[in-house]
Amino acid sequence: MEIPFINVHREYDELKDSIAASLETFFARGKYILGEAVEQFEQSFAEYCGCKFGIGVANGTDAIQIALQACGVKHGDEVITVANTAVPTVSAICATGALPVFVDIDAQTCLLDVNKLKNALSPKTRAVVPVHLYGQAVDMEPLLEFAQSHSLYVIEDCAQAHGALYKGAKVGSFGNAAAFSFYPTKNLGAYGDAGMVVTNDSQIDKQCRLLRNYGFTDRYITVRQGYNSRLDELQAGFLQVKLSHLDHWNDVRRELAELYTEQLGLIQALRTPQCRDNAKHVYHLYVIQTDRRDELRSFLADRKICTLIHYPLPIHLQEAYSGLGYKPGDLPATESVTGRILSLPLNPWVTEDEQLIVIDAIKSFFKR
Ligand SMILES: *Cc1c(COP(=O)(O)O)cnc(C)c1O
Repeated sequence: MEIPFINVHREYDELKDSIAASLETFFARGKYILGEAVEQFEQSFAEYCGCKFGIGVANGTDAIQIALQACGVKHGDEVITVANTAVPTVSAICATGALPVFVDIDAQTCLLDVNKLKNALSPKTRAVVPVHLYGQAVDMEPLLEFAQSHSLYVIEDCAQAHGALYKGAKVGSFGNAAAFSFYPTKNLGAYGDAGMVVTNDSQIDKQCRLLRNYGFTDRYITVRQGYNSRLDELQAGFLQVKLSHLDHWNDVRRELAELYTEQLGLIQALRTPQCRDNAKHVYHLYVIQTDRRDELRSFLADRKICTLIHYPLPIHLQEAYSGLGYKPGDLPATESVTGRILSLPLNPWVTEDEQLIVIDAIKSFFKR
């Protein structure tokens, strides 16, 4: 039996009827761009996050870029973020013209280390983009204090953390604005590309709405240079259907994670994910750490168990970003986890039998 990393067909089988109904509504309305479905989903998802406004955009990368630009971030500014993230976090910062500056992580949680923020600060720093990586919130309280004392904007990258909590409140409700991706494999995913900015600030909301649609205030009248970055009606309809399942799916992810942790936690040479008490993790990814990562990964691949590495090369050492001037050794904690991390199959459609196969294989690997 093959154990894939994701199970798209099982998800579709579960949702088939409601997806078909959503498709019928879409064609019956006959409005394909910026219609009722987008408006409704913007409201529903903003409310879900505990925010006043939601602005549907084309994808998560655009959501980060547009949120930064709505705050006035531009060429010549610096934006602090981490190097162990999906490339789009950084490409979005660069797309505003600003320079990304990397802060090191805490090697236990793999999340931004708030104590190191001061090392990345300069007079040009305008914003911080904390990434709630793998589904766990960054320690936001000290981060917000730091941002406030240095007059920095905070744009949360929530692409991996739909529904995650920090001190009882949803991620996305802490910064000046937050960016979500609905890429198909995310905890809440569309059947194509989609994204959203959420915010409580009416000025940021207004600027995001301009930026996503050519700066139009009225038909063919533009007041700010913008883009074509709209959320499709079709995808918004699908996302509305899927939003009602999100909490349940996150609960299933957490149950699967608990079983992994219970069963793998006793293996000396392996470390299960570290969760902070003040955060509710939604396990977009279940990432273990071991010095024998590559060996374990090919052992599992031989048994048709698919694993992935998030991420194999931190951004500051990627060729595309060599121009930023970083070198090996600049971010020791980030670099130390890169060779140790491994993401195990975990999604709401993994069966208990499949999970036990993965667990048994890992146990037998470490017994050898
Ligand atoms: C997926 C992801 C993004 C980008 O989202 P897209 O919708 O693919 O553009 C940004 N940041 C993180 C951390 C992600 O995981």
